[in-house]
This record gives sequence, C-alpha cells and structure tokens, in this order.
Amino acid sequence: MKKIRKKIIVSGIVQGVGFRPFIYKLAKKHNLTGFVFNSLIGVEIEAQGTKTNLDKFIENIKKNHPPQSKVDAVLVENIKLKTCKNFQIKFSNSKTQNSTIIPHDLATCKDCEKEIFAKNNRRYLYPFTNCTNCGPRFTIVNGLPYDRQKTSMKSFKMCKLCQKEYDDPFDRRFHAQPNACNVCGPKIWLEIGNKKYKGNEALLKSAKLIKQGKIIALKSLGGFQFACDSQNFSSVKKLRTRKKRPDKPFALMVSDIKMAEKFCYINKKEKEILTSSQSPIVMLKKRKDIEGIAPNLNTFGIMLAYTPIHKILFASGIKNPLIMTSANKSEEPICISNEIAKKDLKNIADGFLMHDRPIVNRCDDSVVFELNGNMHTIRYARGLAPQKINLPFKLKQPTLATGANKTGSFVLGRDNFAILSQYIGDLDIVENQKFYKESLANMQNFLKIKPKNFASDTHPEYFTSQLFKKTTRTQHHLSHILSVMAENSLKDPVIGLSFDGTGLGEDNSIWGGEFLIINKNNWQRAGYLKPIKMPGGDKAVSEIWRLTLSWIYEIFGDKWIRFRHLFKDITKQELTICINMVKKNINSPKTSSIGRLFDAVSYLADADKKISYQAQAAMELEAKYNKKPKKSYKFDILNTNKKFILDASPVFKEIIKNRDKGQEVSEKFHLGLALASVEIANKISLKTGIKIVCLSGGVFQNKVLLELMIKELEKKGFEVYTNKIIPSNDAGVGLGQIFNNRRKLKL
Ligand code: ZN
Ligand code: ZN
Ligand code: FE
Repeated sequence: MKKIRKKIIVSGIVQGVGFRPFIYKLAKKHNLTGFVFNSLIGVEIEAQGTKTNLDKFIENIKKNHPPQSKVDAVLVENIKLKTCKNFQIKFSNSKTQNSTIIPHDLATCKDCEKEIFAKNNRRYLYPFTNCTNCGPRFTIVNGLPYDRQKTSMKSFKMCKLCQKEYDDPFDRRFHAQPNACNVCGPKIWLEIGNKKYKGNEALLKSAKLIKQGKIIALKSLGGFQFACDSQNFSSVKKLRTRKKRPDKPFALMVSDIKMAEKFCYINKKEKEILTSSQSPIVMLKKRKDIEGIAPNLNTFGIMLAYTPIHKILFASGIKNPLIMTSANKSEEPICISNEIAKKDLKNIADGFLMHDRPIVNRCDDSVVFELNGNMHTIRYARGLAPQKINLPFKLKQPTLATGANKTGSFVLGRDNFAILSQYIGDLDIVENQKFYKESLANMQNFLKIKPKNFASDTHPEYFTSQLFKKTTRTQHHLSHILSVMAENSLKDPVIGLSFDGTGLGEDNSIWGGEFLIINKNNWQRAGYLKPIKMPGGDKAVSEIWRLTLSWIYEIFGDKWIRFRHLFKDITKQELTICINMVKKNINSPKTSSIGRLFDAVSYLADADKKISYQAQAAMELEAKYNKKPKKSYKFDILNTNKKFILDASPVFKEIIKNRDKGQEVSEKFHLGLALASVEIANKISLKTGIKIVCLSGGVFQNKVLLELMIKELEKKGFEVYTNKIIPSNDAGVGLGQIFNNRRKLKL
C-alpha cells in the first residue's frame, strides 16, 4: 500500500505527562515510522505509514491521550516522504526547544499508591514514589524544558533499576523526572530536639506523636504544613494559640472520601474535584462539626492525602482527619527550607518531619468550591498553577500584569496565552514582596518571556503599582470584570457587576459595589452602592462596628444615640469620637464597597462581633444562610445623575426596627441584595439592550450570593458569566489588566 508522511503538532498539557511514550507505543501499534519530540509549541510528531493507519493514529491521539494530559489542538499537514526504519523518541534540545508549559504537581496516582502499600514491592512504604502520572513537577523545577537536570532531583543519581524504568518507553516511569526509590532517592526523617528518627520509623513516630496531641511541621510538596489531630481539641487550641490565629478556619486532610463523608456532604462533582490529580482543598458543607476547626462557619475546607508522605502517615494508624495548614509565621510565605523551618517554626511545632528533596517553587494548597457543576477557584496554587490560559486576543508584545495588593499574584503573557502565578499572599508584608519578586524572576526564566509592556492597578500605593514606571493602569473593578471577559472569551458589550472589598475608584474614593458597562472602547460606572464613610479608614475594616455606626448616622443623623444599645462592647467615648470623625470628615474616606456592607450588616446580625481575619464577618453571615426566605429586605434604588444608586438604608432600618438577628438577617439580606442588584442590572439592560452580565470581585467567593444572583439573572433572561479557574478575588485582576493593556478602555 502507498505510504504517506504527516507532520502532527499537538498542543495543550502534553509535557511531563507521559505523552511521548504514548505516541511511541501508538506509532508501533499502527506500524508507523518517524519520530516525536517536545517542542516550543507542545509535542511534534512526524509519522509515516499507510493512510488508514495514520488516520487511526491521529484519531487515537485525540481520543486516548494519557489521563494527565490535555489536548487543545492537533494540527496535521502532509510532508514529503523520508527514509526511516523505525519510530524514535528524540530528546529535548534546550536551545531550540523552550516549552511554554510548566507542568504542575500531581497527587499520587492509584498505581503508585498500590506499590507503596504492597509488601513485596521495592517501593514498599517509600515516601517519594512517583511516576509519569503523578508526583512533584512545578515545585521542583528550576528551568525548562522539564528535565531531571533542571529539577531539584538533579543531585540524586538513579540506581540501576530506576534508570531502567526511566529508559524504557513501555514503563510507567519512562522519563518520569523525579523517579526514585529507597536506594537512590530522597530520604525522610523526623527531628525532635536532638533526637532523629529515619525512614519509616520517622513516619510511624510522627503518627504516634500526632495521636498524642503533638503538632508536627511536615515538609510537603510546595512547603511545610502543620499537622495535628483535628479531633483533639486541646491540640487544636494549642495550634491556634501558638500560631496566633484565634478564629480563621483550618484546612483538613483526610485519608479518603469515606472519612470526608463522615464530616461533610459531598456531591458527585465535589467528589470528582477532591479525587482529581489536582487534589485541591474543597469547601464542603459540614455534616458533623469538629470543635475549633472552622468556628461559626458551616463549611470545612477538605483535601485528600495527596503525597505518599501523607498517605503513609494515615496508614500508620491515624483514623481522624488531620489539620493540615500552611506552616509559616503568620501571614508570611509558607516555609520551604529545612533550616528556616527549624528556626522560624520552633515555637509552634513539636517535631519536624523533613526530607532532602529541595522545594524550588513555593506553592500553597489550592482552595476551590463547586457551584452548578463548575469548579470556582479561591486560591490558585498547587496543582492548578501555573497553567496556560488561552487568551481571546493576541498580545503584540510580551506583557506583565502586576496584579493587586492583598492577594498578590501576577500574569505573564505572550502571543495568545497568559500564565497566572501561584498565590503569593498579602503584599503589605515584606516577606511576601520577596516571594513575589522571586516567583516573577523564576517564571520569566521558565517561559523565556522578557516583558516589554506593563500593566497595573490605578492605586498608587500598591507594591505592584510601584514596580514599573511606564505601565498601563486599569481601575481595579474594571480589571475584575475584564478578567471574566478574558477567561470566557467574551466580546463587548457587557454589564459587569464588580462586588468587592476594596479598590481605588476613579473619583479617588474606595469602590467595591460597582455596576459597569463595557462597550466598544469605553467603560462607564452605571451604578453603585450608596457610599458611606469609613471612620478610621482601614481601622473600620478590622473594627466593623464603625461601619454599622456610620450607616446608622447616615440614616438617623444626630438621633444615632437612640441606637447606643446596639454597641454594647463599645464605650460611649469611642462611639462619640467615631461620630465626630464622620461629622468633621476626619480620616473617613467614602466607600461604595459591598464587602464593607456585609461587615456592617454582619455586626447587626451578631451583636458585638469581633473579627480576627479578613472577610470573617461576611463569611459568618453567609454561614447563617440556611434556605431561601419567603421575604427579603428591600433596598432602595435611586436614580441620581443618570446613575443607579443602590441604597441599603431601608435594610438597616428594618433590621433595627424588628430586632432581627442571626439567620433571619442573613437570609433576608442575601436575597434582598441579589434581587436589588439584578433589578439594577435589568434597568441598565433596558436602557442599553445588553443581555450579558459578568460577575466578579472578592464578594463572589460567597457561594450563597453567587448562586442567588446567577439564578435571578437567568430568570430575567441574562447570559451570566463568572470566573472559574481564575479567582474572582484580587489574584485574578492581573488577567483583566493584561486585557486592558491591549484595549485601553476609556472612561
Ligand atoms: Zn504514579
Ligand atoms: Zn532507585
Ligand atoms: Fe478586588
């Protein structure tokens, strides 16, 4: 039969996932000759054989590619025949081949797990077992193409048996870069003071200590974690005290779905996310509470054991979920080095379970939630970062968007793709600024992107706004909406609802309850939440009674004193000072932030509430929502200067008048806010004819509000778009900035 030759280019997630051996085997099966190699674009193949065989070959690439790979496109062209006898895997040449794909870390696969617990296997209880379908990637890599020499596995020379697996195209460990075993690979040990336990003894001893109530600092994939028994309340309390973290919820790790189901309700999609190779922390509704883990909330953040270390730890006799939380000095980056961990965490951890495989790229655990069958990212980190995001436009020059401030992250883009950095944290903290710069340097090096264009927020004081002088500045809430447009490949015009905690507005006040129109080369603020003063500025963010008082003063003026009883824990003097600040306009910036509205309402729902972490008041208010109420609070919608003003005054009046508390306030408020917001969107739509709505901003991490808004908008015939992989919080604004760098929308 006549032979033909084709060049086939496969793009997507195709490197570091066993793609070349898959192609090799497939070519052999279909009697093809030629070669395959990793290239700049993905995987390139030249294959020669009969037309029928080549067609089958291509069909199989699309249908049966390896489980961890993702095929975005398969380009095929006919080329001239060549003489060749066999099919080969060609190896990377780093000069010509720079892949733009940095593979991300993958949870231990079923095959490896079986080996770890098989007594007669040579990897029995070996805590660094991995294969091409699982194991560390991003966290150990310091250059591309992804190759052992460019990972922190470089210093471990493979033994004969491991090398044989690595070289055999038919082996599961063919070119598994971190391949290792007990003989040749990394080692684990436990240190308690001067005592040292090695290998399996270290894991057994750690499990024993945890069961006795001790806190262990454990070196995981992207950094250290504190592990302790979640069911031992005195350990939990000890960890809270030592970490100076009175209320903020702790993530839990479980050995399997069964253990998770004891404590949470899990639907089919949530199960799928939990058991995926990304293995993120999933926010799940509580079934049975555990004291002290997530106080005043109705969810637990739960992940499955995702490395052999975690799995062996559970198998060593741990029957309860473990607290598994990032180990750091509070709010600083997660610890990655053994020496620094021992120094910085010595007052928190009772023992250190460590190993000698260095962590190159720091990466926290990812956090997500599920809604309507979709995964929504809250923290974009391990297993998700760094992932290629296809842009619906082409960048003329390599571009860097520097992001925002409280939830730091950046976006690097070139041609028609962008890469969002891993979660970095609060950039007001100097250590996080260092982490940001480090990560930026690493990512530029990986991707060989030298940005020529810069984009940032309009806020002049953000760390990220000061990095480059010549930069396109984009208003914060516009960026949020543009991030949804970029993520969903949307074209103008759209209505954007940007509900947020904070962000600098065009009028120099603080925005965060914005109804925007994006059309052609313009954007406008078509509506907003009625601004109120924040007495004390940032202080009002941590002392939320100030916001409640401000709303009361806004509504009742000097009669505010009648509501003195609502502020039991606050002295008369404090209240008067605060009122004077509002009256005389001293350190009282105006804000239209919905995040702050949540704070003020939450204080009323739960008198004398004090908060100790960001968004606590809003999260606790959300947690009080049980079911859709019959009645909701009514907001006023005013029309001033052709703008719609969402006025919450009637809501406060009603809460106070009826002495509503707790659950009642939460349910009526959530529904009322959703209905009023949808009404404004509808008014804008009637004026403009726009039927597409984008929702973004930190407030939409509130699953209750997001669900209500989507439902009510769809009822009105809107097409609704949200962020999914890209966080709706400030970690996502970089994508909007990069979009606007190209578009340069005018107000
Ligand atoms: Zn594996
Ligand atoms: Zn070995
Ligand atoms: Fe924001």
